[in-house]
Amino acid sequence: MSTETPEQIEDLTGAFIDENWDPGIPVRKWWARLASARLVNTTLPEDAGGRGWTGAQATVVNRVLADRRVVGPPGGLGMLLAAPTIATHATQEQIERWVPSILDGTEAWCQLFSEPGAGSDLAGLQTKAVRDGDEWVITGQKVWTSHGHEADWGMLIARTDPDLPKHQGITYFGFPMAQDGVEVRPLTEMTGRALFNEVFISEARVPDANVIGGRGNGWRVANTTLTFERAGIGGGHGGGFGVAAPGRIAGHLDRPVGEFLGKRGSISVGAVGRRVLHLLSEEARARGKAADPVVRDGLAQLHILHRLAAMTTKRQAAERRSGRAPSGLGAGVEGNLAKILNTKILHQARDLAGQILGPDAAVVGHDAATEGLLQELILFSPAPPIYGGTDEVQRNVIGERGLGLPKEPGPSKDTPFSELPK
Ligand SMILES: Cc1cc2nc3c(=O)[nH]c(=O)nc-3n(C[C@H](O)[C@H](O)[C@H](O)COP(=O)(O)OP(=O)(O)OC[C@H]3O[C@@H](n4cnc5c(N)ncnc54)[C@H](O)[C@@H]3O)c2cc1C
Repeated sequence: MSTETPEQIEDLTGAFIDENWDPGIPVRKWWARLASARLVNTTLPEDAGGRGWTGAQATVVNRVLADRRVVGPPGGLGMLLAAPTIATHATQEQIERWVPSILDGTEAWCQLFSEPGAGSDLAGLQTKAVRDGDEWVITGQKVWTSHGHEADWGMLIARTDPDLPKHQGITYFGFPMAQDGVEVRPLTEMTGRALFNEVFISEARVPDANVIGGRGNGWRVANTTLTFERAGIGGGHGGGFGVAAPGRIAGHLDRPVGEFLGKRGSISVGAVGRRVLHLLSEEARARGKAADPVVRDGLAQLHILHRLAAMTTKRQAAERRSGRAPSGLGAGVEGNLAKILNTKILHQARDLAGQILGPDAAVVGHDAATEGLLQELILFSPAPPIYGGTDEVQRNVIGERGLGLPKEPGPSKDTPFSELPK
């Protein structure tokens, strides 16, 4: 385990910024420097390009990047989900093929899990993969695919054996998006952005060498991805002051990195960070509402929830490190709890933003009050309780795995998928 103290991490990140930050260099060069200094996704193990740091240690890097007002490392689902999943389940050859281009932001990934008939019941997915020599032929439809229109690769789960029970016949692929047979259609949300897409896959091909975690083991690998997703949603995103999009298709790589200062990503508004807490307090003061007892109470509650989330994460990390028995419900359901707490914080922030902004809450865009940040948070607030598995499903998991309650009734887990009603 690495033993760098927060002060040491602050110093090394600060020294890196002093030597390397230059708003005039292209995004790809800034990210290459960050990646070669191993200041990106530092919780990854060392043989996957990280430092094996704890979440708390990683947060220090992100905080320094934000405080020094420089653009953060590449974000997106490659960094949040694909890299740690690949580091956990892939071969060393696959790690070397895929992870470096995630860390330096030159390739982007999307998550091809949900289907029109398989969201909460993800294991009911019907996209099929049929073996053809050294390749698999994939046919099916995915939906709600965030950043699918900008992705070079997809984390794809497909059914490779319909005669096995539904959780067993699934395989996880690193799926090349740029090929005939893949059509990506954007879906526009009420924020005005088109974050997610429908993806139609007709006899697309993927080499057998791109199977991650072994044939038929896709449910286990997908659960690793979902665990990182829940923890990521609950733990906040990225770092730095400003976000650029990874991958060739988004077109940010060759633009000056200084152009992205202060820019925000769509998903980043779903995690209430220090910037939002500060903005709410500042707006309340500026609008003469800081003495309003309802607003004061709301702000205090929000700060308490935020502190509780941070302390819970720290406590759980300390328990894991020391091998002590987890207190309360922690065992195995930390990510589920963190995601539900994130919703509570987000809704508290949304309601407060409405109270503080009043009619200005209805005016969106970068030239609106708060540069449209709080308004976008209000419009985006229904999304985080849904993605990464809905909060209802998180509660089911906590009930069953954390509290040992009986499982929901349903068909036997041994019934072959082909015999289940569709
Ligand atoms: C902004 C956004 C981004 C997304 N990005 C991606 C992505 O990149 N990749 C991807 O694969 N997916 C993505 N999703 C999809 C997301 O994972 C699914 O929407 C989610 O899992 C719910 O599935 P569903 O929409 O099919 O709803 P359903 O499963 O049909 O659920 C409908 C309602 O029924 C409730 N419900 C269902 N089953 C149960 C149960 N057993 N117990 C209690 N209540 C239940 C649900 O909580 C929900 O309220 C995204 C979603 C959103 C909103």
